[in-house]
Amino acid sequence: MPEPHPPARLPQPGTQRSWWLREALGAEDQRSPMPPLRGTVDFDVAIVGGGYTGMWTAYDLTERAPGVRIVLLEQDICGGGPSGRNGGFVHAWWDQLPLLVELHGPERGLEMARASEVAVREVGEFCERHGVDAWFVQAGYLQASASPAQDGDWDRAVAVCRELGAADAYLPLTEAEVRARCASPRFRGGVLMPSGATVQPAILARGLRRVLLERGVVIHEGTTVRRLVPGDPVRLTTDGGEVRAPQVVLGMNAWAAGWAGFRTRLMTWASYIVLTEPIPDRLGEIGWTGGEAVTDSRFTIHYFRTTRDGRIAFGAGVGAAGYGGAIGARFTEDRGAVARAAAGLHHLFPMLADVRIEDAWGGPIDISSDRLPAIGSLHGGRVHFAHGYSGNGVGPSRLSGRILAAIVDGGTDPISRLPIVGAHARRFPPEPFRYVGARMIREALVRKDEVEDQGRRPNLLVRSMARLPHWLGYRIGH
Ligand SMILES: Cc1cc2nc3c(=O)[nH]c(=O)nc-3n(C[C@H](O)[C@H](O)[C@H](O)COP(=O)(O)OP(=O)(O)OC[C@H]3O[C@@H](n4cnc5c(N)ncnc54)[C@H](O)[C@@H]3O)c2cc1C
Repeated sequence: MPEPHPPARLPQPGTQRSWWLREALGAEDQRSPMPPLRGTVDFDVAIVGGGYTGMWTAYDLTERAPGVRIVLLEQDICGGGPSGRNGGFVHAWWDQLPLLVELHGPERGLEMARASEVAVREVGEFCERHGVDAWFVQAGYLQASASPAQDGDWDRAVAVCRELGAADAYLPLTEAEVRARCASPRFRGGVLMPSGATVQPAILARGLRRVLLERGVVIHEGTTVRRLVPGDPVRLTTDGGEVRAPQVVLGMNAWAAGWAGFRTRLMTWASYIVLTEPIPDRLGEIGWTGGEAVTDSRFTIHYFRTTRDGRIAFGAGVGAAGYGGAIGARFTEDRGAVARAAAGLHHLFPMLADVRIEDAWGGPIDISSDRLPAIGSLHGGRVHFAHGYSGNGVGPSRLSGRILAAIVDGGTDPISRLPIVGAHARRFPPEPFRYVGARMIREALVRKDEVEDQGRRPNLLVRSMARLPHWLGYRIGH
């Protein structure tokens, strides 16, 4: 077996923007940031956050209510957050159907899974309609088992899909069928969500930004919202000015975990991606040429996909927990998390251990206690939000954008009454307990997954810590 590159040779994360975003910016004609907000301005709708949630909301508002005056405020550049750095998996909630049914009943649970699948398709339709070549490929999302402990992780979801007449949405595969798509020697079986797709995430984000600018949405980048003052209008204060608007949408993702009102609804964990050099021939050798998005079935999941030039982008949800909602260096500069992601790549593909890793980056994910997004309104129905995607937001944020735009537009569209709107997941404890708990449980989950990857059984302490969230009523861990 080839020898892996020693950890010292791994790229230092956080020194530059993700490879995705560098590629996307490099191909743009007009890549200069939009100027920060100066002075006091009035708009019909103000949106905080230039990721998918904020931008899909703005896009759908321009579709529904063409004359409405929209301003979008982004502290960095649009797509500078996780929307321009993620794995690019776009998938529906078929794997979550048992939970959706448990929370909302079979009919409405199925309705939401179907809506999430429509959202995947709509991402592709947007790209087609607006000439955004974000590499949208609907080649399926394949979840594999890579250890005995992971076998059959999907059984319940497959059974519920069958019971509700959606058997084709989530198809169990044998070991041979999985390896025919991607021949990791660790794979033992799996399940395929045929509607799953991949995108080049930053091209999608930057394409959205371009379309919004073309449609007259005012975007201020380098503009951090420091304070929200409820009222009519709602006021958003920034370092250089103030926006007044009767309707405000918050699409701040993990940053919301630092805001009063959301602090006990979210916690933050980091996820990291390593990117290999181009290896199209080696991908051919392992039969992974169909463009499938693939994961194993760990809680601290390994997720991997290929690029157009034959690289592997390999992600791992193995980063640290955040404290107090601050999004600092641990989310972008954690060399240990990069080393663990690289170890995951070499564990699942030992035959690629000699392949050079050329880039690495990380970002925050916003975990809700049921791992579904929270969508709702505050302050007399003038401030609306969507967050808590729990690391699965590329497809669902398309749906959130539709829902938020419908709410702002009067709330008569049935989509704004999907049961996910206004649902309240269990709260997390306040700091410092949120951080201490998140960190201890996080470490137990990483340890449990690593031990199980070796085909061993974790000790009782690790098993108990990994179960603790379930005993406390949170849907986190195993
Ligand atoms: C490494 C990594 C890999 C991932 N892989 C996948 C994947 O493959 N598939 C998947 O479905 N999901 C994945 N995710 C999650 C996915 O990226 C997110 O769920 C999704 O991008 C959420 O979009 P968003 O617009 O809500 O958030 P973001 O993209 O985080 O956008 C929020 C924006 O708000 C801005 N902001 C925050 N606070 C303020 C403020 N006060 N003032 C102004 N601006 C502010 C931020 O700068 C940011 O740009 C991954 C995440 C990470 C970090």
